[in-house]
This record gives sequence, structure tokens and C-alpha cells, in this order.
Amino acid sequence: MTAAPAAGPRAAATSLDALADLVVEGDVVVLSGAGLSTDSGIPDYRGATGSLRRHTPMTYETFTRDPRGRHRYWARSFVGWRRIRGARPNAGHHAVGRLQAAGLLGGVITQNVDGLHQAGGARDVVELHGGLDRTVCLSCGDVAERAALDERLQAANPFFGARTDEINPDGDAELPDEVLDGFVMVDCLACGGGPLKPDVVFFGETVPRDRVEHCFGLVERSGSLLVLGSSLTVMSGYRFVLRAAKLGIPVAIVNAGPTRGDDRADVRIDAPLGEVLPELAGRLAG
Ligand SMILES: [Zn+2]
Repeated sequence: MTAAPAAGPRAAATSLDALADLVVEGDVVVLSGAGLSTDSGIPDYRGATGSLRRHTPMTYETFTRDPRGRHRYWARSFVGWRRIRGARPNAGHHAVGRLQAAGLLGGVITQNVDGLHQAGGARDVVELHGGLDRTVCLSCGDVAERAALDERLQAANPFFGARTDEINPDGDAELPDEVLDGFVMVDCLACGGGPLKPDVVFFGETVPRDRVEHCFGLVERSGSLLVLGSSLTVMSGYRFVLRAAKLGIPVAIVNAGPTRGDDRADVRIDAPLGEVLPELAGRLAG
């Protein structure tokens, strides 16, 4: 047997120059993931320091069918939301906002639920997996602000002062069972029932179809697809890379570490977003 050829069937460009050449063409649709928010102190589920190994995220099945599991979710989330709410956009979020303000973006789709794109200046962000700043009632469908729920929870739990540094990306914190059981949950203000659910897509839950179709439309009309900080492990994001590649729309991926889309990337930069994006915005957005 002879050695495999040095270059694979597809060799992606790896330079910032190549990325800039693509983005300057405009109509770029951004697809961002947890890696964009790690510099803001929100840990990555699946990256090198990912929490998935020691923490199983809440599933839709458990949340809707296991009252005790749901109760514990809200107790952990009551604590974890402190950090999510206190998180600030980082240089990567601001760079995306600048690229958009410069007219180079055709859309921003995020898998993140932390609201940091918007806080960093981006507009018309499609929150593929929803947002932690809202709750939805599973009985009446009422959507309410999470901040309002937090005030009610603080009133109902004046002595629930548990603190933890183990916060997961969905605002879910690690707490001992005996602490969780002492938590008091409240009901929906609109119907008096519930249960209340954060307005996010849990693992095992389907992204609403109209939201997916809207994103497919953005990708199909785009000049290129730019993936930022996602390993593309879940199909809910990966399918947009597949669609772009199928239509011959160039795909660029900036992520620290390998991704499932690497074989389909025209430009692939394996470096921290906090270095690449400010440099890119500095070149193209003044
Ligand atoms: Zn309700």
C-alpha cells in the first residue's frame, strides 16, 4: 500500500485572508454556537472543557413527564440564572454586530439561548433554540419575562441562598438533592396553572417548524454561511451546513477544535473566536 495523498478530496483554505475575501462579498448568514459565548463565562456543552461529560442536560421528556425532575430543574435554574443574567457580550459578539452594521450579513442564526448576540449589537437574531429571558406556560401558552418570574421566585424562596460555581449553558446549576427539595416553585400568572417552562428547546425537543423554514430561507438566499463556535454536533444546526453545501453556497467555519462540518468547509479556521472575529471586523467594518 502506498501512503494516502497529502491533500484530501477537499482542502479548505485556512487563512484569515480567505475568510475576509468571502465575508467582504456580503450576504453572509452567521450560525453561532456555544463556543461564541465561552469568553463571556458561559461554558461550552461539548468543547474541550465541555460540561456534557459530567452533566446530563435536561430533556424535554424529563421536563414534561417528571414533576420532581422539573422541580429540580427550576431550583437549579433559579441559582444558575444569576450568572446567565450577569453575562456580558464579548469581543466576538461585538464583532458580529459590527459586521452586521457594515451591511455584510444576511442574517444571524444562533443556537445559544443567552441573548448575548443582541446585547452585542446584533439585530433580527433568530434564536434557533429559544431564549432564557422568557418563559412559556405549557397549559395556556402565555409567554412572560423570566425577570418577572425571578422576582416571584425570590419572594417565594427568601432563604434559598444556595450558591454554586458549577453553571451549565442552559442556566442549570449543580446542587445537592436535599437543597433542591426545599425550593418553592410558582405557577403561571395568566392561568394559575402550568407548568412553566423556559422558552428554550430542550434536548429531545423539536425546533418549531416555521422557525426552521425561516432559517433555511435565510441560508438559501445567502452568499455564504459562516459557522462560529459550534462543533455542529446536533442536527438542528448541522442541517444548515448540509443545505448550503448542497446548493454550492460557500461554507466557512471558525471554531477552536474539530467540527462535523469540516469536510464541507471552503474556509476553515481552527482558532479562538476572540482573536479571529475582532481582526475580521477590524479589516472589513472599520
Ligand atoms: Zn398558563
